[in-house]
Amino acid sequence: MTSLDTFAAEKLASLEAKNLRRELIETGRKDSIWMTRNGRRLLSFSCNDYLNLSQHPAIEKAAIAAIEQHGVGAGASRLVTGNHPLFAQLEQRLARLKGTDAACVFGSGYLANLGIISAVVGGNDLVLVDELSHSCILSGADLSGATVVTFRHNDVAHAEELLKQHRPKHRHALIATDGVFSMDGDLAPLHDLAALSQIYDAWLLSDDAHGIGVVGGGRGSSFVGGKKAAVDLQMGTLSKAIGGYGGYLCASQNVIDLMKSRARTLVYSTGLPPASVAGAIAAIDLIERDPNYAIKPLRKAKAFTARLNLPEAQSPIVPIVIGSTEAALNASRMLEDEGFLVTAIRPPTVPANTARLRLTFTAAHPNAEIERLAAIIGERILGH
Ligand SMILES: *Cc1c(COP(=O)(O)O)cnc(C)c1O
Repeated sequence: MTSLDTFAAEKLASLEAKNLRRELIETGRKDSIWMTRNGRRLLSFSCNDYLNLSQHPAIEKAAIAAIEQHGVGAGASRLVTGNHPLFAQLEQRLARLKGTDAACVFGSGYLANLGIISAVVGGNDLVLVDELSHSCILSGADLSGATVVTFRHNDVAHAEELLKQHRPKHRHALIATDGVFSMDGDLAPLHDLAALSQIYDAWLLSDDAHGIGVVGGGRGSSFVGGKKAAVDLQMGTLSKAIGGYGGYLCASQNVIDLMKSRARTLVYSTGLPPASVAGAIAAIDLIERDPNYAIKPLRKAKAFTARLNLPEAQSPIVPIVIGSTEAALNASRMLEDEGFLVTAIRPPTVPANTARLRLTFTAAHPNAEIERLAAIIGERILGH
């Protein structure tokens, strides 16, 4: 064994001892909600494919047509020769959906945050991050070299306190938060954070990975409640409700132009394959054409939370916090025996002692199965 092997083996043993070792399980997906694992058919409440668009015939058709016309790969960075004609179309559609001047498509949501944050802030600047924000916001903030300070989850008063304390010592400041929190399903107070940004001359970034397509009439978390929140940087992913793969930023024309010169993950990474871009355009077509479709996942989540007297769902994500990793894993196994795939989410994805079941609802989940799942969870996990 090399010292590298020894290091890896010891690290794995220590993760194993804490129930934190992770494994990839081969999963076949069919009809977007039914999975096969280890030869068993399971109904998934774990996918982020909220609108079941990842296997939608019209979107598959658009992706296949793009391969036939443009090939399977972009061939280079978009800055070199990878900027095939579909990008401009998708960027116009995203900007229109989000109500901004312009948009920029990235390789993934994760890459988008790495590139965006490090393009707008640097060593003399401040990034204020909600403590429950997605890992890629923190990675982007770390990469930028800015001073990173976290505020208590959705606590605008705490964010203001920290701005009072730190803002004067820095040139620029950025407030960054999930719009819909990925492991909790609640919404960020974007209007209040936007007001704070105004007062302290900070810029606001919201990560709408779990908002686009499913809240705010399909337009995302900045549009919940009808009045658009003044978010300078609306980023998100094409990999969840949009059904495919890729990331984006919607912002002013100047900011988007800056990304195309300075966002490292755009400049130095190959452009998205044509099929992914064409699929996203077709998905946005569907979402814009039928606003009632976008409402379905949240409606199903709300029926579930009402049935179990849980706090009302604000998005299609519903957490059931269990506590210990072992108990969360056991709960997940029990549900698997009942035919449901509900993945246990463990630290460090969520804070210590808050291991949980994270349920996601999609437009296609049958109501009778939601009822059966609620009954089992009520009786055997919540102890109703
Ligand atoms: C999934 C997710 C991302 C990453 O998006 P990908 O396109 O999968 O890389 C970013 N932010 C949040 C909040 C997410 O949930």
